[in-house]
Amino acid sequence: MSAEIFSGKSERTLASRGMRAHTWYTCGPRGAVSLIAHEITDPATIAIYSRESRLMGDLSIVSWLNGVPYLAIDLGTHRTLEGHREYTTYMPECEFLCGPCWYDGTSLGAVELLRVWTETDGTDAVVLHLLEKHYRAQLDEGDPSAALGREVVAEAEQILRSGT
Ligand SMILES: [Zn+2]
Repeated sequence: MSAEIFSGKSERTLASRGMRAHTWYTCGPRGAVSLIAHEITDPATIAIYSRESRLMGDLSIVSWLNGVPYLAIDLGTHRTLEGHREYTTYMPECEFLCGPCWYDGTSLGAVELLRVWTETDGTDAVVLHLLEKHYRAQLDEGDPSAALGREVVAEAEQILRSGT
């Protein structure tokens, strides 16, 4: 991995809403990519999402880890420079870039990536590896279609199995 990008994870409790926000990120000279998920900590709300999970099956935005529901919120791309993609949104204060960004996001991408996390028993290293791939696809190589295909997920699973 290039030395000029770095990855990490932060968590913060949103006590009034009975949840905890998990944020994984990769930052570099061209911007950042981030995955945001909300861990539901309030028992009454957990029961609601249990029903949602059963009804929606594979279409559910909920992934479960040790009986706790996690909601996939957003897989975001934050660009330091305005690109040629028209559907980005200008954000004056980006928490990842400490300045303005041009942002776009996908909730479906978040569902897919969060599912990898729960299926690997909450292994942050796998998510961060995939985010670094996503960063390169979105911000270095300019080919978003290469972002999070099944082969990338398979590669992460391989890394996990080999224990490196
Ligand atoms: Zn941003």
